[in-house]
Amino acid sequence: MFEHRYAKIIATLGPSSSDKDTIRALAAAGADIFRLNFSHGSHADHRLRMDAIRAVEAELGRPLAVLADLQGPKLRIGMLAPGYFDLQEDTEVIFALDGSGMDVSSIPLPHPEIFNAARAGVTLLVDDGKMRFDVLSADAGRITARTVTGGRLLPRKGVSVIGATLPLSALTPKDRADIEIALAIGADWIALSFVQRPEDIDELRELVGTSVRIMAKIEKPSALDCLESIVEKSDAIMVARGDLGVEMPPEVVPRMQRRILRTCRRLGKPVVVATQMLESMITAPTPTRAEASDVATAIYAGADAVMLSAETASGRYPLQAVEMMANIVRDVESDDDFWSGMESGRDVCRSTISDVICAALHQAAKALHPAAIVAYTTSGNTGFRAAAVRPRAPILCLAPSIEVARRLCLAWGLRPRVAGAMNAMTDVVQLASRIVIKERLGSAGQIIALTAGQPFGIAGTTNVLRIERILE
Ligand code: PGA
Ligand code: MN
Repeated sequence: MFEHRYAKIIATLGPSSSDKDTIRALAAAGADIFRLNFSHGSHADHRLRMDAIRAVEAELGRPLAVLADLQGPKLRIGMLAPGYFDLQEDTEVIFALDGSGMDVSSIPLPHPEIFNAARAGVTLLVDDGKMRFDVLSADAGRITARTVTGGRLLPRKGVSVIGATLPLSALTPKDRADIEIALAIGADWIALSFVQRPEDIDELRELVGTSVRIMAKIEKPSALDCLESIVEKSDAIMVARGDLGVEMPPEVVPRMQRRILRTCRRLGKPVVVATQMLESMITAPTPTRAEASDVATAIYAGADAVMLSAETASGRYPLQAVEMMANIVRDVESDDDFWSGMESGRDVCRSTISDVICAALHQAAKALHPAAIVAYTTSGNTGFRAAAVRPRAPILCLAPSIEVARRLCLAWGLRPRVAGAMNAMTDVVQLASRIVIKERLGSAGQIIALTAGQPFGIAGTTNVLRIERILE
């Protein structure tokens, strides 16, 4: 018996997972979306990985989505002449815009925005917060700071500025070049890092048009101040806990994760929980119990997808990490308590035709236990809407093109398949019956609930709900 899984798995590709055999094994183990991390690797690397993913997709006969993740305005210190500095706490260091890197009185920091915003009271965190410097004084080219937490300062490490908002665009020149490549190789989703305001989404949307869907990574405190409008403007959201836990104290990350998930669920937007989910599996074949619990918590809270980063990109056990994640997800989804949670977390029905149809769809799934829900979708919107109400049945999405099918891979419960254009609901019933039987979701005579927007072929509102029996 085939086991359907509702929540999706994103696997980041990297040195541990770039050959076709590994990518095939990851997909077979349950990876639904592959993430190309543009913070690492060359354009040629990403292109080769994309070719391998598309080859695997053709072999497996199921769409796979590709998420191109932009680095964004990640601030870094420059090169250090001796290779590194070992810093004691309570010593003074100087960051300089045109620093030589020769000694600790000339640490290069090639970002003028930081010097303009820095003043006494501001803190610089370096290397994911491992090292901490309190600014004592600053001018346009020099920052004098006290080392609060010392350690080994390595070149090119990331810098977070705490206590000041920097006037940075979410798109750097590198990001713009990366976007061109992402579009050229046919990425389905683009993730925008360090989003601070809703206008950041507009800026990217203007550049990419409708060819690709946009995921906003929430990892800056300023994004949390205008979360609703960022969620509304984005096609999906990522809870990017790595940088979020540097920009804010780690103890507030769980509360922020809950808040972001609730907002996305309420507004019906796909949401991904990311970073350190099975971190110890980078070097061990099994996770800690706390990590297993963390994945489960995200699923219970209604995440559409959970993400693996270094676990699959550079870890020793990429395949085991995906298998473990899939097992945890399936176990949660077998729990009735999970389904009652989905029920109570559901938003009150808004007064649009689409919302009423989707509420009825949810009700139909609950009362009639259909073998599958079938969403006939032109742009993907009907598919995403059906996923948003979390019905308890696999959602077979019939999409007009592979591009639409791929983007649907991200959302909870959706099983996208490419179907030709259709003229009438009876055609949809026939095709859906064939696919449902072939994929062993149900057999002739069982109930299916179909949803679509009519007239067919025009993206618009979801306005049809039809209950049928699977045809012979
Ligand atoms: P990153 O984003 O891996 O690109 O930094 C995820 C995060 O910050 O959690
Ligand atoms: Mn990040």
